[in-house]
Parts: sequence; structure tokens; C-alpha cells
Amino acid sequence: MNLIFLGPPGAGKGTQAAMVAAKYGIPHISTGDMLRGAIAQGTEMGLAAKAYMDKGELVPDEVVIGVVRDRLAQSDCAKGFILDGFPRTVVQAETLAGIVSIDHAILVDLDDESIVARMAGRRTCPACQATYHIDSLGGSQTCAKCGATLIQRTDDAPETVRNRLAVYHQKTQPLVDYYEGAGVLARIDGSQTIDAVFQAICGLLGAVR
Ligand code: AMP
Repeated sequence: MNLIFLGPPGAGKGTQAAMVAAKYGIPHISTGDMLRGAIAQGTEMGLAAKAYMDKGELVPDEVVIGVVRDRLAQSDCAKGFILDGFPRTVVQAETLAGIVSIDHAILVDLDDESIVARMAGRRTCPACQATYHIDSLGGSQTCAKCGATLIQRTDDAPETVRNRLAVYHQKTQPLVDYYEGAGVLARIDGSQTIDAVFQAICGLLGAVR
């Protein structure tokens, strides 16, 4: 089961990718998490990536492709995987097609205004990468999963989110047509509750297995 999760930032694809990975027992590969991990470790690649990420720009294709190529070569990907946040450009998609075949590209879609509103309230665990919305935290500032103090990602600030959306529409949205043309695209309405989105995805995956 080789899956891609596509969609604008903040539509919920990371949350869903983690849930689907747990249910099907396949690795959840988030390029954003991997890049933030490299930044936290202070690697040369992380430092180079940070400048792009802080502005809401994409990290250069060759950097991200190298990271994903290495990750997909690991043995836990043999039964399948979920790519979350990759590919984000046509070059990335074309390169990926030369490495593995994709069974489903799942587009979790949401309109721009809902995204800006969601991201303003998003809080992230810097230790385990879990995400929350402030409305559901009841004033708590700690991660329910691991106890670390939650942060607001610098790139979740409203101005940066608007830039990330512009980049999404320009560079990543063409992949919707790319995967539709390949006959593997499934569209899911990301404005539904987390559970409803999950059920829709499981319905799709269950039906085709
Ligand atoms: P995410 O956590 O998926 O929202 O990614 C956060 C940031 O990491 C993005 O805004 C980009 O700067 C960078 N990034 C993640 N994945 C990619 C990718 N496939 N290509 C280029 N940049 C990426």
C-alpha cells in the first residue's frame, strides 16, 4: 500500500496520515517532520532548509528528494508507506514515479480562509510532532501524548501561512491533475470532523484492498 497524502498546509493531512499509518501498520513519512528533525539536530542540511521553511518557501527539490530516496530504501517501507507532504512539485512527483509506484494519492482539501483560521490556532509538540487546536486544549499548554510544552510553529504565523498557501497553489496543486491523470487520485473533504475524514479514507482503502 503505497500512499501519498496531498493537500494544502493545515487541511489535516498530517493528522490523517498518522492515523492511517497506525491502522495499517505502515510508516508515516513526513518530509516536514524530517526537515524539522534535521534543524533540531543542527545538521548542515537542516540549517540550509530552515531559511526556506521560516519564510514558507519550499526547500529545493534535490534536498528533499535525497531525504525521501534514502528513507524509502529502508526495509520498513517494503510493505508500503504514507508520504505526507511529498511530493510538492512536479519534479518531485516525476522523480518519485521513477523510484516507486503509487497506489493512491489522497487529496485532503480545504479552502484558504478555513486554513488560515485553523493554523492561527494550531499548536505543535516539538518533541513528538503531535498537533492540537487551542480550542481543544482547555487552556493546557502541554502535549497530551508526551508532556512536552507545546509551541506555535514559526511558519504557522498568518503572514507565513498565506505565503505557504500561495506556494501550494502555484507549485503543488498541479499534482492534483498529475495524479488524476494517473488514475490514482481520491478527493476527501477536509472540512469534516477528524473522524469523518478518517472514515472516508478508510472506506476508500478498505474498498480497494
Ligand atoms: P509541512 O510540515 O509538510 O507543512 O512542511 C513544512 C515546510 O517544510 C514546508 O513549508 C517547506 O518549507 C518544507 N517542506 C516539507 N516538505 C517539502 C517538500 N516535499 N518539498 C519542499 N519543501 C518541503
